Amino acid sequence: MSNSFNFEYKPLPWNIIFGTGAVSKLNQELESFGFSKALVLTTPNQADEGCKISNLIGNNAAGHFDQAAMHVPVETFNAATKMARHINADCTIAIGGGSTTGLGKALAVKSNLPNIVIPTSYAGSEMTNIWAITENERKITARDNAAVPTLTIYDPGLTLTLPPKFAAASGLNAMAQAVVNIATDNINPLISSLALDAVRALANSLPLIITEPKNMKARSEALYGASLAGAALGTGTTSLHHKICHTLGGSFNMPHAETHAILLAHSVAYNAAATPVGTEKLGDALNSDNAALAIFNLVERLKGPKSLQEIGFNEQDIDRAAEITLESVFSNPEPVTVDKLKKLLRNAYEGTAPQSF
Ligand code: NAD
Repeated sequence: MSNSFNFEYKPLPWNIIFGTGAVSKLNQELESFGFSKALVLTTPNQADEGCKISNLIGNNAAGHFDQAAMHVPVETFNAATKMARHINADCTIAIGGGSTTGLGKALAVKSNLPNIVIPTSYAGSEMTNIWAITENERKITARDNAAVPTLTIYDPGLTLTLPPKFAAASGLNAMAQAVVNIATDNINPLISSLALDAVRALANSLPLIITEPKNMKARSEALYGASLAGAALGTGTTSLHHKICHTLGGSFNMPHAETHAILLAHSVAYNAAATPVGTEKLGDALNSDNAALAIFNLVERLKGPKSLQEIGFNEQDIDRAAEITLESVFSNPEPVTVDKLKKLLRNAYEGTAPQSF
């Protein structure tokens, strides 16, 4: 930690409004940007939310694409692009979780369409410059500041409909973004501060959401934690944890948030020996001297899925998943070997408590 004040920090061009009822400011914000032909984006599940947004902005709504899907399949991207061109859209408004935000980000990068995002889950994607498209079972991700939303409106009231079980998984997905920027061998003190506050906010609020789903203070704190976690990921790094999750999502169609929730404790255990200072700080934020176990126990407390088996991953795909994960180069504090990666995946598949490597 002796060189921890030797760092670089490049914030992203964030523009945020946060608060209960904040979505009511959408139309005045659109007008201040001069946008008048918005393409509203939602998943099929949240089509009603999209209709409400269209009603709220009246004549400034030019269309509604309600087919956003997990991991931005190229077919979905192409269909949304076609609609945006057809209605001559001058911006997108993505209301939903990371899947919808992801579609808005891909359109921002590839079609130069300013993107407004109204997050309703804890994916945190709106705070990062990471965008993705999935084609031929491979999820390709890249960083580009053009993906960062022109405006993000956080309205915790919109997260009340997020079922507690998914709120827990989504919150753990957010926590992962923070954790990889704390339990690292290259601590950036500014990013680590954001990330530690994110972990504390999420660890405090998520159990409350499980027991009191309508607790607005908890919902607000969780959304705040997710935003900070996204900021940490956006300006920080990813490592083995995100690489495995992207493989399981892009190549095996595993649900994103749940996959993160299951793997996080195992990824922390994998890197613990190589990241003693960061892992201790993470443990402190979780009031534990064993950060990986604290995360594993938190997942249990949140009644989240604990094994890949539970969410439909096939045991015979462990080897292939390890090989795909290692297809491209990525950095990680602890060197990654195929055998250790298979062991990690097996632990996660079986849902055992995290083991040291
Ligand atoms: P999601 O967006 O697919 O949402 C899951 C389901 O929950 C969807 O049907 C959605 O419509 C619904 N939903 C969302 N909010 C709701 C609410 N308040 N009430 C009721 N239903 C609601 O899942 P997600 O976990 O939010 O996002 C996952 C996607 O985001 C993945 O593709 C992942 O790769 C991406 N992601 C990207 C980044 C990044 O930085 N680029 C970061 C995190 C996640």
